Amino acid sequence: MYNPQLNSHGELAHLLTIEGLPARVLRQILDRAAEYVTAGEQGVKKHNDLAGKSVFNLFFENSTRTRTTFEIAQKRLSADVFSLNISASSTAKGETLLDTIHNLEAMGADMFVVRHSESGAPFLIARHVRPGVAVVNAGDGRHAHPTQALLDMYTIRHYKGDFQNLTVAIVGDILHSRVARSQIHALTTLGCPEVRVIAPKTLLPRDVEQMGVRVFHDLDEGLRGVDVVVALRLQNERMNGALLPSANEFNKYYGLNEARLALAKPDAIVMHPGPMNRGVEIDTPVADGKQAVILNQVTFGIAVRMAVTSILSGARA
Ligand code: ASP
Repeated sequence: MYNPQLNSHGELAHLLTIEGLPARVLRQILDRAAEYVTAGEQGVKKHNDLAGKSVFNLFFENSTRTRTTFEIAQKRLSADVFSLNISASSTAKGETLLDTIHNLEAMGADMFVVRHSESGAPFLIARHVRPGVAVVNAGDGRHAHPTQALLDMYTIRHYKGDFQNLTVAIVGDILHSRVARSQIHALTTLGCPEVRVIAPKTLLPRDVEQMGVRVFHDLDEGLRGVDVVVALRLQNERMNGALLPSANEFNKYYGLNEARLALAKPDAIVMHPGPMNRGVEIDTPVADGKQAVILNQVTFGIAVRMAVTSILSGARA
């Protein structure tokens, strides 16, 4: 099957979505990230992989963790980093996305990291850039967030070993979550035998079962015996119309609290991509509890984004 993300040698040329990427490529990224983590532990933070290359970060949607960790990653690889202030750029004057891209290419861009509210925007850019210019999707609409899923896979592998014997539960607003979609593709590709999604019917995509997951509507039932729990934020900005009665009501039935977490395995880890809404999808004692690895996810995100950036640039091929 044609995959615009892979070049004719089967190597990663753009990172747009996890869907369709072979396990080999996902593992290559996780392994390269592990090398950066090890180097960091040995005191080597700075690398030359991207010396002389120009990376442009274009965030058309809000971001705290993704944007900052991408910038840290790029700087640790010695890239020249340009993060556009979109509200002050010419897109605000009506310039098209592709005209902006072509102008930045004329300035010598080697890579674009793009977040956009429109699903498919990074694909559009990837189709129009010059050969050799790489595009990374940093979250497009409700479609995909591949580097988030990869850092989540890194975190799971770090705490739980490989994926072969794990049960992972993803709880909350699956319907609007690009994170959930990318996680499901990553987990099934990497051989996780049981991926559960736990949500009310109104917050599940219609085709969810075809993605190879087990669906639960009851949180207690879905959490029983799991190794990993991923809590997701209610994506109010992507909801039109009332899909649930209220945040309080959601917390009552789907909020992760200590009593419910006790139904998972005793050594289960709790993850969240951030930003958290405490008291809605996750209660504070769980968010700050012993089983939470939420801030570790953020730290691993740097190494994972370094790995993606380095592999896409062709460094150490
Ligand atoms: N930060 C994640 C995203 O950009 C999750 C979220 O916003 O809830 O998709």
